[in-house]
Amino acid sequence: MNLTVYFTLCKQWSLQAIKRKRIHTFGKTLFCVEERFTERLISVVGKEQILTGTAVRDRYHHVWKMDQPLDVLAVALPRTTGDVSKIMKLCHEYHQPVVIHGGLTNLVGGTETRAKDLVISLEKLNKIQEVDAESRTITVQAGVILENVQKAAIENGLLFPLNFGAKGSAQIGGILATNAGGLQVVRYGMARQLAVGLEAVLADGTVISSMKKLIKDNSGYDLKQLFIGSEGTLGIITRAVLRLVEKPGSRVSALAGLESYAQVVTFLKFMDQGLAGTLTSFELMWPQTYKALTTPPATVQPPLPYQYNYYVLLDSMGSDPEFDTRRLHHLLEQALERGIVQDAAPANSESDIIRFWTIREDVEPMINACNNIQQFDISLPIPMIGQTINEILETLHQMPEVERVFAFGHIADGNIHLVVGKNQQSSKLIDQINMKVYSPLKAVGGSISAEHGIGAHKKQYLHLSRSDQEIQLMKILKNSLDPFNILNPGKVL
Ligand SMILES: Cc1cc2nc3c(=O)[nH]c(=O)nc-3n(C[C@H](O)[C@H](O)[C@H](O)COP(=O)(O)OP(=O)(O)OC[C@H]3O[C@@H](n4cnc5c(N)ncnc54)[C@H](O)[C@@H]3O)c2cc1C
Repeated sequence: MNLTVYFTLCKQWSLQAIKRKRIHTFGKTLFCVEERFTERLISVVGKEQILTGTAVRDRYHHVWKMDQPLDVLAVALPRTTGDVSKIMKLCHEYHQPVVIHGGLTNLVGGTETRAKDLVISLEKLNKIQEVDAESRTITVQAGVILENVQKAAIENGLLFPLNFGAKGSAQIGGILATNAGGLQVVRYGMARQLAVGLEAVLADGTVISSMKKLIKDNSGYDLKQLFIGSEGTLGIITRAVLRLVEKPGSRVSALAGLESYAQVVTFLKFMDQGLAGTLTSFELMWPQTYKALTTPPATVQPPLPYQYNYYVLLDSMGSDPEFDTRRLHHLLEQALERGIVQDAAPANSESDIIRFWTIREDVEPMINACNNIQQFDISLPIPMIGQTINEILETLHQMPEVERVFAFGHIADGNIHLVVGKNQQSSKLIDQINMKVYSPLKAVGGSISAEHGIGAHKKQYLHLSRSDQEIQLMKILKNSLDPFNILNPGKVL
């Protein structure tokens, strides 16, 4: 070995030693900080509210990934808003990243974690605090499951009109954090429209509480709207006052077959006018989707034959079963006579209604038909949907990796879902498909997310929906409310 080589090697060895020492020291320091943080967390809220070790690995980050053990620093299970506040004060002091867990049903990676994260799960904040039948409100903690809110409303002769497939798991906190929509938005609006009061804990532990039962309150900024739809990046929702409506006394449904998308738009206007404010759902299915949802293993037989280009399933909730049935039949006859629809089947009984809606609600036959699934929930102005979606479908079908595409959606809200099945899964292919779906949206004033949100999976495409100025303002809000970026870091922005 010549001297130069020897000295170079010595230099490298000593550098490596220093690096190791530093890494070691850093690792030790980090370890100490983590240990001290967990100890203090336990001392602040009590041992029974903090899970560590194997208790953490018994959990998961999504209801569809129950086989993947959670790998995080600890899980906190607060029981009160005060607990959440104490935990966040500590996290703020330690700059500890936090991932908020609700019912874990989001479809955008919003509850994904890293090993150094603390999970705060709202599942123990699960009390319905009050149903006020006169104010027509329900006051709940954030961890209450949607289905339980629906049941409590019904028991009091009222209706909580938010409804979607994940109602047995999704929690009110998660629903508000994602501003969920679902099947009845055309009549009752999204989660945003159904929240009249809100309580949230900020990144530094401050509690912002405005639990009023007021529908109208223009005294300054509507602060609750900051937290609704912000996917846990601006604060942790701990309680809410939700709006209830009078329970409808009747429900009628029908399925229609149509030739063109222009007819779908005409049919929507025609039925909405004729049903005088009682149109509750107006769902569109493309023919491949209708077929998949009405052939085995699907449990429901097709109420209409497979010869139409579009299928509309609609619901109307009123107060008089006889009158509402007569009116629906009359409107469908008129729509047939005028050539707006080619075929129509009204649901003639309660069991027919259930059968018809199983087609739309039980999406499993469609999901199971797809390998390497990729899902979309885009929105577009209603008149632009037909042409844009058909162009997107054509482009996707031209890709050799794409095996299946199903299209359906809440058409009255301009919201279309696409489910894509592929013969392989790679991040390059996922990105290619994302771009094929998202790119055409900007030109027609569409959005890459109608209701599921951005989470971790869509943030690189946010600029296709929002201007630079809008994203900049979002960042300013985030920085001022969460200066250390500890709330759901890496989500949305
Ligand atoms: C079968 C199925 C059907 C669905 N259908 C619809 C549909 O029709 N319409 C629709 O809009 N969505 C739908 N979704 C998506 C999903 O159900 C919603 O996004 C739901 O609102 C999420 O609620 P969650 O409690 O499961 O929240 P999670 O998945 O636990 O969390 C969602 C996001 O909110 C944050 N978060 C959770 N709790 C809080 C809190 N208390 N405070 C602050 N942030 C919080 C999380 O960190 C995460 O970023 C569906 C999902 C499934 C699986």
